[in-house]
Amino acid sequence: MIISVASGKGGTGKTLVAASLALSLSDNYRVQLLDCDVEEPNANILLHLAMNQSQPVYIPIPKVDEAKCTYCGKCAEVCAYNAIAVLKGKVLVFPELCHGCGSCSYLCPESAITEEGREVGIVERGDSGNLELIHGRLAIGEAMAPPVIREVKKYIDPANIVIIDVPPGTSCPVVEAVKGSGFCLLVTEPTPFGLNDLSLAVEVVRKLGMPCGGVINRVGIGGEEVEKYCHREEIPVLLRIPLDRNIAMLYSKGIPLVEGVPRWREEFLRLFQDIKDISAVSRVAK
Ligand code: SF4
Ligand code: SF4
Repeated sequence: MIISVASGKGGTGKTLVAASLALSLSDNYRVQLLDCDVEEPNANILLHLAMNQSQPVYIPIPKVDEAKCTYCGKCAEVCAYNAIAVLKGKVLVFPELCHGCGSCSYLCPESAITEEGREVGIVERGDSGNLELIHGRLAIGEAMAPPVIREVKKYIDPANIVIIDVPPGTSCPVVEAVKGSGFCLLVTEPTPFGLNDLSLAVEVVRKLGMPCGGVINRVGIGGEEVEKYCHREEIPVLLRIPLDRNIAMLYSKGIPLVEGVPRWREEFLRLFQDIKDISAVSRVAK
């Protein structure tokens, strides 16, 4: 089963939830936690695993053989990202804009384009007992998160319980991380910002057609609007984590909630059972 843990905005406690769920389940199951928040992968701040495997991630960018090029302009025409420009007697490639889609090399009538790899990040892996962590890390100054996320997701073993820590927001990296999941857990907080970003995240998840449920973190910091929204939209709130000085202190020290306060382990196991139940009902309804 693949469970995504997402949130419309950063700082809601998404990683706390993903790591706590992974740790709770790893007592009884083989669990993979995929940290796809590749701009700032921080699940290992809580898990403390030795990451003993590392591999670079490359995207293919075009290299033009000007001896074969007729400067017809076809490559620039097909590039949706303005990453290649054809001037009189010169073809310019802008590697930072290139998404490595391969369209230009495929459609060049003179076969003048070959491809070379450009490193955009790394994927690292570590494990301990039943728990395996794979995280991606974008290279500094790099904006191309989806290829790194795709590489992280190549490690998915469907025989395991897979938990994906999704990047915050609602843009392409989020869709790349979430797609293929059987359930999406949406972590939010009871504030106007939390509500706004939750509603955007719900739109994305609904477009992807997967069941979802909410986790409200820092209950007590704001009002009831998030609860009312979830009720209206028929999004079950599966877990509420109170605004609690001790929880914040544990997080700041890199201590997982379920280790700092063991009774939370039961709460996360119950959360997993709810996710399984909702997923089963959703499969039957389809
Ligand atoms: S499509 Fe090929 S031949 Fe035409 S300008 Fe681009 S590289 Fe040159
Ligand atoms: S590989 Fe795709 S994104 Fe990159 S320059 Fe060619 S067409 Fe544009």
